[in-house]
Amino acid sequence: MDRRKFFKAGTIIGAGGLLLSPTSLFGNHSSANWKKPAKKPKNIIFLVSDGMSSGTLTMADLYSQRKYGKKTNWINLLENNNVKRALMDTSAANSLITDSAAGGSAWGGGVKVPNGKLNMGANGEEYTPILQKFKAAGKSVGCVTSVPITHATPASFCVTKKHRSLQEEIAEDYLKLRFDVMLGSGKEYFASDKRKDGKDLLEEFKKAGYFVAEYRSDLKKDAKNKPVIGVFEEGSLPYYIDHKTGINDFKETPSLAELSVFALNELRKNENGFVLQIEGGKVDWAAHANDTTAILEDQIAFDEAVGVALGFAESSPETLVIITTDHGNANPGLFYGKNADKNFEKLLSAKHSNEWVLRQVNKDTTSSQLIDLVEFASNLAISKEESELILTKIKTVQSDGLYNPYKLPFGDLAKIQAEYSNVHWAYSNHSADYVELTMFGAGSDILPSFIQNSELHHYMLHVAEVAAK
Ligand SMILES: [Zn+2]
Repeated sequence: MDRRKFFKAGTIIGAGGLLLSPTSLFGNHSSANWKKPAKKPKNIIFLVSDGMSSGTLTMADLYSQRKYGKKTNWINLLENNNVKRALMDTSAANSLITDSAAGGSAWGGGVKVPNGKLNMGANGEEYTPILQKFKAAGKSVGCVTSVPITHATPASFCVTKKHRSLQEEIAEDYLKLRFDVMLGSGKEYFASDKRKDGKDLLEEFKKAGYFVAEYRSDLKKDAKNKPVIGVFEEGSLPYYIDHKTGINDFKETPSLAELSVFALNELRKNENGFVLQIEGGKVDWAAHANDTTAILEDQIAFDEAVGVALGFAESSPETLVIITTDHGNANPGLFYGKNADKNFEKLLSAKHSNEWVLRQVNKDTTSSQLIDLVEFASNLAISKEESELILTKIKTVQSDGLYNPYKLPFGDLAKIQAEYSNVHWAYSNHSADYVELTMFGAGSDILPSFIQNSELHHYMLHVAEVAAK
């Protein structure tokens, strides 16, 4: 700031000596004042690590350097210094803390809505989702995720719904939308033996001319320019650490990066360009469960998809890549202590998630069996008393809702492991933290350094010169 501007700002002391609002100091940052970007993007790849606190981003990079001998693609990108960055306010219409429906809808519909709703206001106001807008403008559109394709984050770019829980309806909405590539999990929302109405939705997709993918090997087939729907598992894809260690059981399960490669190869066929959302959905699930080994590797799975997107953008410079999260979650971190570095390095030899451990424990499990299981999975040796505490909890713990359907003592185990790994968790739910937003490529140059989640919707339309209807 030059001196003259500083003194001008300094004159806003009111009669009573009170400092008035400093808006004049910072100017008007609203979207109406955005300039034209240096280059208009033809394609947008929007990557969301769902529920990624900054400690997650940090620890995944520390882990990657030590385990794989390289920085994560995301941190490497920042280090190369050819990106624009912002902090983003993730709040919902009715709370400082958003859920994934309201967070996604702010991007999806351009308006903050109450938690739980998809592009719908408190009084039923309906907002058109961004992929419908881009589709109407002649672009190809799609979503890729490691959780149900009908889950809040992908759905927030696609549909308008009074509640995120209406996943069977959302699956049917996708049939009508005929988006170009939709890949994820959540087979139960498409299967006749699981849906309340008994419809075989995948059969209906086939009849309507879709290419339907259910196995990793389907990704090698030619979709013959048909719209694509892919649902690969019930529930979600496995945690990446369980996927990799148990590869023989998961030969037909694709990774997030593999899904992303397939989606980009389909979408790139449209000469008018495309918009693709890629979600690392299980980072959020691992955060809710305070599952350290799971979150490290799922952030790596997300980062591999970041690598795929950046590789594409380097070969197609008319591409804007946006990398961010919808909210912090549980705020994990590596904390100070005598053997902190060494303790963290124990996690490099971890083989499984805590979910993998706790789902095999039953009333007959002995304390020494549990000690062995935990050590095999996380490379952390807990004590006899600690394992007995977990076994007692397993018999008494109550579910804390959506993300703990098996009523397992995730929090207790995480607290015990923290003493051995120095990775502590602040809580087991979303936070109000402002979050990291990184942009790379065409259209990134005018990103303001602080942005509301809802403004990002208008930013994408603005830089791509697609009219907001
Ligand atoms: Zn969540």
